[in-house]
Amino acid sequence: MMQNRRQLFASTLRYAALGLLAVVGGSAVAKRRKLVRQGKCVSGGVCTRCDLRDECDLPEACETRRGPGE
Ligand code: SF4
Repeated sequence: MMQNRRQLFASTLRYAALGLLAVVGGSAVAKRRKLVRQGKCVSGGVCTRCDLRDECDLPEACETRRGPGE
C-alpha cells in the first residue's frame, strides 16, 4: 500500500515536471517567434544555425536562403 502511494507520488511529480518543461519550452519558442515578427534577430545573426530561418523575413535570413552568388 505504501509502495503504491510512493509510485503514485513519483508518477505525479514526473508528469508535473514534464508538463512544466513543455510549457516553458513552448513559451520560449513563442517568445522567439514574436521577436522575429517584430523585426528583431534572436540568434545573433547566425542564420545558418537558427531554427527560425525558414520563417524569418529579416534581410540576413533572406540572404542565406538565396545562397551565395544569387
Ligand atoms: S534567421 Fe537569421 S536574422 Fe532571422 S532570427 Fe535567425 S539569425 Fe536572426
